[in-house]
Amino acid sequence: MQRSKQADTPAPQPASKPGTGNLSAKPALVLKPDRDKSLLRRHPWIFSGAVEYIDGAPASGDTVPVRDATGKFLAWAAYNADSQITARVWSWHEKDVIDETFFRCRIADAIKARRTLTLYRDSNGLRLIHGESDGLPGLIVDKYGDVLVMQLGSAGPEHWRETLADILQELCSPVCIYERSDSDGRELEGLPKRCGVLRGTLPEKVEVTEHGIRFAVDVAAGQKTGFYLDQRDNRALTGTLSAGLDVLNCFCYTGGFSLYALRGGARSVLSIDSSQEALQLAQRNVALNGFDGSLAEWQCADVFEALRKLRDQNRKFDLIVLDPPKFAPTAAFAEKASRAYKDINLLGFKLLRPGGLLFTYSCSGGISDDLFQKIIAGAALDAGVDAQIVKKLHAAADHPVLLSFPEGAYLKGLVLRVA
Ligand code: SAH
Repeated sequence: MQRSKQADTPAPQPASKPGTGNLSAKPALVLKPDRDKSLLRRHPWIFSGAVEYIDGAPASGDTVPVRDATGKFLAWAAYNADSQITARVWSWHEKDVIDETFFRCRIADAIKARRTLTLYRDSNGLRLIHGESDGLPGLIVDKYGDVLVMQLGSAGPEHWRETLADILQELCSPVCIYERSDSDGRELEGLPKRCGVLRGTLPEKVEVTEHGIRFAVDVAAGQKTGFYLDQRDNRALTGTLSAGLDVLNCFCYTGGFSLYALRGGARSVLSIDSSQEALQLAQRNVALNGFDGSLAEWQCADVFEALRKLRDQNRKFDLIVLDPPKFAPTAAFAEKASRAYKDINLLGFKLLRPGGLLFTYSCSGGISDDLFQKIIAGAALDAGVDAQIVKKLHAAADHPVLLSFPEGAYLKGLVLRVA
């Protein structure tokens, strides 16, 4: 069993500055005066700018106590010397020991929450652990049937990798735990990308059944951990509104919204994505479900260009889905991303018939709900249409948002009806 240093060291001592002769026996992270506010609100990130000094020499991934400038305990956190986020909080309780038992409790609780919310009823593809919002910063675990995909996004879970895999194996008995630690964020954490089987054997075919629709999932080479589980309920809503409509699904990936539209009785479904691999899997998914492939048209293209072509051809649709990739990972990209969102939404509005529906999404952490709505309002104005918001959407319940971590609410969606 892997244990942090914290488990077998004496009770915490008041922090002291290096060189003052009162060094505590173990590493600790000491904040600058008045830089404890976000921690007191239980936001789990400690940025480098808030750190006065590191008492001792912890290694990346080690658990350290975080103290305010007076030496008062604030939290146990995973240290990372190589990141702008110097530490991420595991626990707010001084009595907690960050060890295998701690992680088993957190993981079991996350699984229990999903059972209590009856999420297994709708799908055997679920996000079991949603990082910070499940009290496990940097850890993502997605379940695809009896395969688990684990993504380690920061030094803390990286340090506990084997322990986490053992616990998941024990609690979920999957046939395989596959590691997809290849998110872009790893670079910012100073961690190399790593993918491969961690436990068991990866079956040749991995599949999920979501609201009764079957999807093949490419766990090893697909995007993210293989599938966009967060859109499950929003896809289902699109399906219920598609009967008799001409549907356009932009950024379709493996056909998520398209398959729901086909099942919902759409008259036609045009799906566009720039990934040939995703489109091939999408077409396999149509066949897997026995849907009428003749109603579906697939285009491998850049959506920005494809929408212009459709406009020039005077094509019209009754329901359009715009589910682009993350244009703004952080607020620094917001301006450029805003232009991109406005562009596709403006074109989307122009392609809709009167009374048509636009399902538009942003999964950008750097774009707030308010800003997104403003961008869409600007797009409607420039397109010369009046539109109403008929529903606001977000990620499914297996992607909970911790109240003290608003960053967890990355996915926002609007359903708009044009006059
Ligand atoms: N709606 C999908 C998920 C979309 S993910 C679902 O429910 O599963 C975003 C998709 O956009 C990815 O498949 C990616 O290949 C595609 N993509 C990214 N940039 C693109 C572009 N400029 N044009 C077309 N597709 C793009």
